[in-house]
Amino acid sequence: MLTIGSHVSFNNKDQLLGSLEEALSYDANTFMFYTGAPQNTMRSKIDPNITKQAIAIMKNKNIDYSKVIVHAPYIINLANNKEDSKYDFSIKFLKEEVKRCEELGIKYMVLHPGSHVGLGIDEGINNIINALNIILKDTNVVILLETMAGKGSEIGSKFNEIKKIIDGVNSKNNIGICLDTCHLNDSGYDISAFDQILDEIDQTIGLSYVKCIHINDSKNPISSHKDRHENIGFGTLGFDNLLKIIYNPRLENIPKILETPYVDDKPPYKLEIAMIRNKVFDPHLKSKISA
Ligand code: FE
Ligand code: FE
Ligand code: ZN
Repeated sequence: MLTIGSHVSFNNKDQLLGSLEEALSYDANTFMFYTGAPQNTMRSKIDPNITKQAIAIMKNKNIDYSKVIVHAPYIINLANNKEDSKYDFSIKFLKEEVKRCEELGIKYMVLHPGSHVGLGIDEGINNIINALNIILKDTNVVILLETMAGKGSEIGSKFNEIKKIIDGVNSKNNIGICLDTCHLNDSGYDISAFDQILDEIDQTIGLSYVKCIHINDSKNPISSHKDRHENIGFGTLGFDNLLKIIYNPRLENIPKILETPYVDDKPPYKLEIAMIRNKVFDPHLKSKISA
C-alpha cells in the first residue's frame, strides 16, 4: 500500500490532533511535522490526552503511526562547534526534541546533518558524530539524516559523507537516512536512473537505513546546489520520474512525504496526492489550487 502524506502544521492548542486532521483533509495516510516553529526553539508542553485521542483516530483509520515523521528545526547545526555555548545549546535542544518525540510516541525524526561553515568536511562530520552520540543515548527514537542539496557548506549531499556519520554513531539502531528527491538532483544525482542511486546507497550505506523519502520536484537543473522545491511534475525532475520513484518496489514500505511549495498561499497537497494516486499528470493543477 502506498504510504503518502505531506508536511503539516503543529500548533500548541490542537497539537497532534490538529496535524492529523490537516493530513486527513489531504487524503493522506501519513504526515510530517515540526513540534514547534522550525526557525526558533520555543516549545510548548505536549498534552498526553491530545496525543492519545489522535493515536486512537489513526488506529481507526489504519494509519501506521510508526511511519509518521517529525522534522528537527533547521536552525540547529551540529557540525559547527566554533562557539562552545552554541554547540552545547544545539545538542541540548535536540536532546529535548528527542524527548518530545518520545512523549508523542514518534519513532523517526529527520535531521539536516549540518553545515561546516569553513571548518572543513572532516571536522564538521566529527562534530556531528560527537553530538549524535550524546543525543542518541538511552532513547528508542531514530534520527534520519537527510540527504542535502549541497548549498553553501552543507554536509550530507554525498552518500559517502552520510556513511561516515553513520559509521561514527555508536548505536546503529538509532540512525537512518531520509532521501529527498529535490536535494538528490540538486547535489548531482541523476534521479531518472533511480535504481542506480538505490544501488549506490545499498553499496555504501545499506538500503535498510532508508526510512523516509521526501518527494519534491526541483526548480533547478542537476548539480545546481540550490535546494528550491517545485510542485510535482512542474520542475526539472518531472512527473514520470517522480512517479517511478514513488512506486519503486524497493521503497514500497517507506513513507513518502511531499514538501512542495504552496500555490497562492494554498496547500497543494490534496490535489498532488490525488494526482499521484491517479498516476496521470494534470498540467492545470496549479490553477486549480489557486482557484
Ligand atoms: Fe528537510
Ligand atoms: Fe526534505
Ligand atoms: Zn529542501
